[in-house]
Amino acid sequence: MKNVHNFSAGPAALPRQALEKAQSSLLNYEESQVSIMEMSHRSKTYENVHFQAISRLKSLMKLDEDTHILFFQGGANLQFSMVPMNFLNNQSSYVLTGVWSEKAANEAKRFGTIDVQTHAKENGYSTIPSPDDLSYDDRNSYLHITSNNTIYGTQWKKFPYSKLPLVCDMSSDILSRDIDYNAFDLIYAGAQKNLGPAGVTIVAVKDSFLKNAHSDVAPMLSYQTFSKSQSMYNTPPVFSIYMLNLVLEWIESEGGVSSIEARNEKKASLLYDAIDRSEGFYRGHAEKEARSTMNVTFNLQHDDLEKLFLQEAEEAGLIGLPGHRLVGGIRASIYNAVPLESCEVLAAFMDSFKRKHT
Ligand SMILES: *Cc1c(COP(=O)(O)O)cnc(C)c1O
Repeated sequence: MKNVHNFSAGPAALPRQALEKAQSSLLNYEESQVSIMEMSHRSKTYENVHFQAISRLKSLMKLDEDTHILFFQGGANLQFSMVPMNFLNNQSSYVLTGVWSEKAANEAKRFGTIDVQTHAKENGYSTIPSPDDLSYDDRNSYLHITSNNTIYGTQWKKFPYSKLPLVCDMSSDILSRDIDYNAFDLIYAGAQKNLGPAGVTIVAVKDSFLKNAHSDVAPMLSYQTFSKSQSMYNTPPVFSIYMLNLVLEWIESEGGVSSIEARNEKKASLLYDAIDRSEGFYRGHAEKEARSTMNVTFNLQHDDLEKLFLQEAEEAGLIGLPGHRLVGGIRASIYNAVPLESCEVLAAFMDSFKRKHT
């Protein structure tokens, strides 16, 4: 039995079922006498895994037929460069709601003019703009947003509507909720928060948008190359994709994305309720209407108390709770694979820590 509760922000907790399945077939994958890491990526055996992961993603995201699923290495950070490299003509628009969107916009500046729409930076990025408050200038090649702000703990609930192609960094909430994934022209997400280990980045791109991609991009940085080769232009990160497939299988076995979403909401409520009933002992960072169901961020009255909280939490088996180095405080990351029970244990710990220290 596992006796720690893992709230790591990323790489993050994986479903026990997926880890055990990987463990049991590590030395002998499907009677091949070798592991999945030790065979050609052109073998039928690996191809089955690769295409199963693609078809599971398509079906769990309920994607239109003309959407391509691609696998890249280089993390979400490489996508910060690849998106403008492939799609920016003269100008594009970035909505800044946190550190990752700032970084995405800064990388894009190398490739053209960036129209930034900064929201609530002076309030520590504690809210999300209403789609009505954004500008949708059609000189932009696309509009870029970050659906969940991993560091500040805020999340978009309603997405921009726009004739502009919509590009979204979903690294920290992909498949955590049953949204209309077809509303986006390009989605990218590093797997290591909600979908698997580090090493593979998932891209879902509509064919109509892909047609706009510049064709003179270096092949390893081109969405068109990866689409034509079904993400087998070179050796793909086979083990990461194998694990991704096991995590997707687990999502299916849990009843699909809507069941996962219902549980995620319950998990988040347990922690936000503990903050709200603490009468200011715990101070939630995000405004209520923008609260993330994935990253619950809060502070205590002073640094020493936060240190003590983290220390006592760790002694109680609650790990991965320190906030991001840029903002400090506490961050409980409660991605898909974090069990409801872990949130129950953390909420109870928060109540008892408060009783002990007031
Ligand atoms: C973690 C994270 C990133 C960075 O991902 P890498 O895969 O390490 O490049 C980017 N965007 C968001 C929203 C994230 O949560």
